[in-house]
Amino acid sequence: MDRQWRVAMISEHASPAALLGGEDAGGQNVYVDAVSRGLASRGYAVDIFTRRDDPEAPLVMEWGPGVRIVNVTAGPARHLPKDGLWRYMPTFRDSCMDFAERYDVRYHVLHGNFWMSGWVLTELQRVWGIPGVQLFHATGKTKQRHQGKADTSPSDRIRTEMEIVRQASAVITQCPTERDEMIGDYGADPAKIAFIPGAVNTEIFRPLDRAKARQAIGLDAAGPVIVYVGRILPRKDVANILHALARLARQPDRPCPTLLVVGGGEGAESVREMARLRELAGTLEIAERVRFVGQHQPATLRDYYCAGDIAVTTPWYEPFGLTPLEAMACGRPVVGSAVGGLLYTIVPGQTGLLVPPRDPVALAAALGDLFTHPVLLKRMGRAGLERVQQGFTWAHVAQRTDHLFRWLLASQGEAMSLPWRVHGLPGMADRNVRPTVGSEDRHAFLPGSEDRHSCLSLPDLNIADPMLFEHVDRNSHTPLGLDGDLLGDIDYGVH
Ligand code: UDP
Repeated sequence: MDRQWRVAMISEHASPAALLGGEDAGGQNVYVDAVSRGLASRGYAVDIFTRRDDPEAPLVMEWGPGVRIVNVTAGPARHLPKDGLWRYMPTFRDSCMDFAERYDVRYHVLHGNFWMSGWVLTELQRVWGIPGVQLFHATGKTKQRHQGKADTSPSDRIRTEMEIVRQASAVITQCPTERDEMIGDYGADPAKIAFIPGAVNTEIFRPLDRAKARQAIGLDAAGPVIVYVGRILPRKDVANILHALARLARQPDRPCPTLLVVGGGEGAESVREMARLRELAGTLEIAERVRFVGQHQPATLRDYYCAGDIAVTTPWYEPFGLTPLEAMACGRPVVGSAVGGLLYTIVPGQTGLLVPPRDPVALAAALGDLFTHPVLLKRMGRAGLERVQQGFTWAHVAQRTDHLFRWLLASQGEAMSLPWRVHGLPGMADRNVRPTVGSEDRHAFLPGSEDRHSCLSLPDLNIADPMLFEHVDRNSHTPLGLDGDLLGDIDYGVH
């Protein structure tokens, strides 16, 4: 494949090669991996720049067709907590520039992830004169609001984020809450915000009969099971789930669910939190109902989701949250806290339920209700799967990101084809004369072609408009099909 367009994907602490589920390895690692592969499958060459944290790691790793991981030197070549990385970012930037120069690589577009990479993005955007797209994954202001004094972020964080929002060519937001935060907290220009929700790998995360899944993970529990998957950090508030479980355990008229807690790892914060949770389970006298199974990689995670009847996640805040989508892709309803991305991915009453954060009473009531309605549970599982297939696959994300890149590159005067009918390209380099775009048409732009049917001018075509992406998706969506019973037979002991 002739890969004409090169993307520099910057992700200073989150490498796709990391083991998932540890303290600093979660959603961002998954995102960077999946979007890079997706862009490569659409013809881009993608280099993922990440910080070398292992002296044995090669400078360049071939990661997949069209995707390389570039382990650049920035600080000591060992794992460091991400809040300690800020001081190494100037070196990180210089190492990216050295690499491009030494190997004579010209990049066309930058994709920054998290705020420190966002700073590198603004630097490289300026030096290389190319567009840059930023996705924060989490923001300093939200963290401050929820964690207060416990927030260990460098003091420069919020000021730097403000500057990134001002300078990046476009900012990707993954849910309406994040968009509101970008505009309200960071004064982002709404016309610069693209709306591209995160996604799930529907080839890995698929429904599996509950009994088979339990057998696969060696779970002997016969009754109801709830599952938490994610990093083990205070803000994920697994303690809230334990408190809810303790309430359910006190109800004599129905069986108490077993809770599977998937995640953990070696980081100090994660180890501390895990110890606290184990102790709490003992204090609440539910230790025998809780299985802490440690971190697992995606191939086995499917079995854990499918071994459960309901997935539960009740963080204090959640910028987006991939795990609810993974559970939905496995045909499992999700009970989540009514915050951030969960407000967008979970449709209450249809694909699961939303409860207030830090409210074990509400969580216990929601779980208790669901377990008394097995038919509703099944229906929600199906609805979740359909929701995921309709708009939350990585193919959708790659397509939308590709369109955003094309839009930016064409605006810069690159001879890039657009998925919409366009004319007036020669004017693109000249900022005073804009091309016009037919929003109802997906014909690729061919340089030199003249199309008179255009109806919108580029400045009117706001990248923040979900329709820009939606109408393309509707044309290309192929449902994966849904048949059979997702859960298998369930007996919750409630008749
Ligand atoms: N994850 C994993 N193994 C684990 C725990 C979590 O692979 O033991 C993955 C999980 O499947 C999801 C990601 O880590 O893809 C967590 O992403 P999410 O957006 O839910 O939370 P974040 O880590 O970004 O806070």
